[in-house]
Amino acid sequence: MQLPEKVTLREVAMRDGLQSLKHFVPTEQKREIIAAVVEAGIRRVEATSFVSPKAVPQLKDAAELMGGVPRGRATYAALVPNARGARDAVAAGADEIVVVISASEAHNRENVRRSIDASLAELDAVFEIALSAGVDVIGSVAVSFGCPFQGDVPEADVLRIVAQYVRRGARSVILADTTGMAGPTRVARRVTAFRERFPDTHLVLHFHNNRGTAMANLLAALQAGADCFDTALGGIGGCPYVPQAAGNLATADVVFMLEEMGVETGVDLQKLIPAARRLEEILGFTLPGQVMKSGPRDPRLAAHICGIGKALAQRQQADS
Ligand code: ZN
Repeated sequence: MQLPEKVTLREVAMRDGLQSLKHFVPTEQKREIIAAVVEAGIRRVEATSFVSPKAVPQLKDAAELMGGVPRGRATYAALVPNARGARDAVAAGADEIVVVISASEAHNRENVRRSIDASLAELDAVFEIALSAGVDVIGSVAVSFGCPFQGDVPEADVLRIVAQYVRRGARSVILADTTGMAGPTRVARRVTAFRERFPDTHLVLHFHNNRGTAMANLLAALQAGADCFDTALGGIGGCPYVPQAAGNLATADVVFMLEEMGVETGVDLQKLIPAARRLEEILGFTLPGQVMKSGPRDPRLAAHICGIGKALAQRQQADS
């Protein structure tokens, strides 16, 4: 199997995971979770979004949250919908800003009530604000693998938006499977096409598990040469109107699988799993993550952290 030595994970739970929740999670608890994932070894965090508090009340504390994240060990990104959001994010101390345009016209209009061209026109101001302040811009392409309104999304439509980001100075681009429509073959083809056309641009993959294919997609992307993925603690990020709907790839599940395959993540499951379980406690409902329930491979650790196989571990201890 062709695998990278090392993979970087971008933790997106506090932005992509929380944005659709109804009740507001206090800023202090968001900070607690961010501090815990950084302590576990996460080095890139997408912390919040500088959007209208009316549109996304869950993230109304963006500036306050950004002001209190533990600096020094991780970089913090914030999503922005326009120039005004970019100004606010830069002022609040974001290290990177993320801009999003959908690869399908229908999804872009549904998402931001604008045509793709109108969204592209707004990019100049956003890049100018960020780059002149020394803040990197990450360009995200939503519905890169399929659109809930349109169905298939042609590769050319995806790469056209990537080219617009790169031309303006984005060093990283996210291809997002916003509603979990990708399969491994499609992912491998798109990753290969991206790397051929934009060899100097850092590629990030963002998979949702709506149809159960997210982990298979990650493996396909890995084998096609990708080495950076968005993941969310506990796998949150599902639709709030569909209880237990699958969300983002769960960070601990990805760490477990990669480390099990000998791919380094720099993340310590022993610290990450308690953080996911704490998030579950804060949110008050069962999260889709699996490794946070089953524990790491070491049975004694699994017993200690998750209470799984406790009786077995005790018996083994008595035997030894
Ligand atoms: Zn997402």
